[in-house]
Amino acid sequence: MFDLRDLYQEVIVDHNRSPRNFGKLENADRTLEGFNPLCGDRLTLYLKIDNDHISDISFDGSGCAISVASASLMTDAMKGKSAEQAEKLFNHFHNLLTKDDEDVDMEKLGKLAALAGVREYPTRVKCATLCWHTLHAALLGDDEAVSTE
Ligand code: ZN
Repeated sequence: MFDLRDLYQEVIVDHNRSPRNFGKLENADRTLEGFNPLCGDRLTLYLKIDNDHISDISFDGSGCAISVASASLMTDAMKGKSAEQAEKLFNHFHNLLTKDDEDVDMEKLGKLAALAGVREYPTRVKCATLCWHTLHAALLGDDEAVSTE
């Protein structure tokens, strides 16, 4: 039997080992820090916004494998998205980590579905959602650093 979990595991290991969109974005329109005191994950998100679309996005910082893989997958998924589309994806992703499978639109999540397993470890959910909460706040124009606590 083909085990989806193995594939998911592989995606997370890969994105943690070689994170996409890692590094400071020069001339970013918005920069916001996020912090998860529970685990010690710390990241900075850099955004370029053109006509209400995320034209470029990157992150740096340090954290556990889940927080880094999540930020890598999220930044990949967000390029070219409008603020509204980003918000929708945020909701789908939040459902993925907090609800049962039947309530989750896996198709819309694509590779992000790799983080589904995190749901079984409630203390790690904040690691996976840190970058998303930070993006959410950055899109709203918040200046204050985001904390998951
Ligand atoms: Zn963490």
